[in-house]
Amino acid sequence: MRTNSYLLVPSCVDGNGTGHLRRIINLYKKLKKNSAVFVYVPVSQIPYLYENMLEENIDTNDLILKTLPVQKKWNYIVVDYMETPVELFLSLKEKGFLIGIDEGGDQRGGFDYLIDIIPSLEFGIKPNYSSVSLMNLPERREFKKISEFSKILISFGGEDYFSLTKNLLEFFKENGYFSNSEITVVGKNNFDRSVFKDSIIFNDRIDNLKSIIYEYDLVFTSFGFTAFESLASGVPFLLLNPSIYHHKLSNKCNFVEIGVENPNKHKLDQFLKAGKNFNILQGKYIPGIYTNLGDFILTLNNTVTICPVCHYEGKSINIIHRFQNRNFYKCPECGITYQVYFKQLTNSYMKNYFFDDYKNQYGCTYLEDFENIKKLAVPRLKIINIINKSGFNLLDVGCAYGPFLIESENNGYIPDGVEIISDAVEYVRSKLGFLVYQGTYESIKSDKKYDVITMWYVIEHFADLKLVLTKVNKQLKLGGIFAFATPNSSGISAFKDKHLFFKNSPADHISVWNPKISNKILTRFGFKIRRFRITGHHAERFLPFPLFKTKLWYSIFVIISRIFGLGDTFEVYAEKMKELND
Ligand SMILES: [Zn+2]
Repeated sequence: MRTNSYLLVPSCVDGNGTGHLRRIINLYKKLKKNSAVFVYVPVSQIPYLYENMLEENIDTNDLILKTLPVQKKWNYIVVDYMETPVELFLSLKEKGFLIGIDEGGDQRGGFDYLIDIIPSLEFGIKPNYSSVSLMNLPERREFKKISEFSKILISFGGEDYFSLTKNLLEFFKENGYFSNSEITVVGKNNFDRSVFKDSIIFNDRIDNLKSIIYEYDLVFTSFGFTAFESLASGVPFLLLNPSIYHHKLSNKCNFVEIGVENPNKHKLDQFLKAGKNFNILQGKYIPGIYTNLGDFILTLNNTVTICPVCHYEGKSINIIHRFQNRNFYKCPECGITYQVYFKQLTNSYMKNYFFDDYKNQYGCTYLEDFENIKKLAVPRLKIINIINKSGFNLLDVGCAYGPFLIESENNGYIPDGVEIISDAVEYVRSKLGFLVYQGTYESIKSDKKYDVITMWYVIEHFADLKLVLTKVNKQLKLGGIFAFATPNSSGISAFKDKHLFFKNSPADHISVWNPKISNKILTRFGFKIRRFRITGHHAERFLPFPLFKTKLWYSIFVIISRIFGLGDTFEVYAEKMKELND
């Protein structure tokens, strides 16, 4: 198995907190078990990173890159930067598949894959995956019922850039809060500690703090990892936030806040008065089962985002829909919409495809459905007969068990087939007696020229359409006909809900077509479209209400669907106009 290479890019900028850095260090530990992993930080941020990595006993000698090597590329680049600066984004973009963790900056839309772990405000662009279960949280515990806050933890992150610790301690001192409690402070605080009472325990750092949070009765922190860790540990926590942004996030999660920058006496009193009855645990944000961020990233297994039609792989590809396992891109060069699936596809073309898989989708096996499928060939051949001025040699790509071959022979053609599945090939050869090439269309070797080449629900499966359409052009005689059928991305289903349409698009449909784009693409490959036929008119998909499920309304919507070409599938009939130059 080929090992992947990873480049991790943590933010070590002042003010971003150490949580992001620790997250990247954990990721590093997980991924390096079977991959090549490097960490990139600009020179100015190096000391900070070294310090944190050495504390984790990581040998920093050969893994940290201070500049990006010009030639080097990685399979995956994981960026944990909150708001990635544009220069950094552009320099990384050409070096590999970009995964953004909790990315909230202007470059968000340009990342190949987005993972939101901390609940975020709406960034406008939906992530591929979002779950706090990736946060590497401590063991989930029941909510503590506390009558007295005898042990208090204050942690505003490793650096406390906004001096929240100092603000909070001064506030406690002035107002006489928690004078009998044991207070533990974590973080590198640069203020005069001597002015506070001796009993306060100051720690620059506590190793694996999250695993001992449950020992405390109350935690003061700001919106971030420690808040979620307290929540998972079942310990009440109060937030003193550094900014309005954090304030809004706290509100979104129903976390209790005692102020922004400075604590508010009234708010804290309210909490203390409510005491143990205070319902602080909003458990809905913490799932029962956690996932490891490293394990999750390891499930992503494909980074090839190249356009199947024109092979464009530049920076300006546009991601139009994101899902956990795939993205849909729109090519800026040729306009095709195509899918990149991030997981390994298995058994897409096994024998099962025509039996169990087919039955699951259509309610009977392919062979049981044979006569119906054969009937579909009748109107198709009717159109081909009208526009075909060439001869009678026909090639049906993806011929399956041969229904179109039989019907085309009935129409006077001499048909050959191409099919991958050996059972089907065997059937067509022995039972029907036609010539069939076994294999993918790309792989068959034949100099035979055809008058008609057909592909019924096949074209959307090809990974390299440039190769396929060039080959079709080459195999067809001048004036020959290329006909195919495929799902329609401008049909009623897509019209009603684009996101749902793409969500429902099968994992092995790589390209997504509609009449307009077919025209544009076929022209590139030397064809001129002679006829479209919009099919798959489903009146019931127009309106979900039972009211409309009467015969009359059904007929009306079928008419509307036909007039406006809103069928969910369509067919293209094109004539070869010219040879392509090699
Ligand atoms: Zn393209």
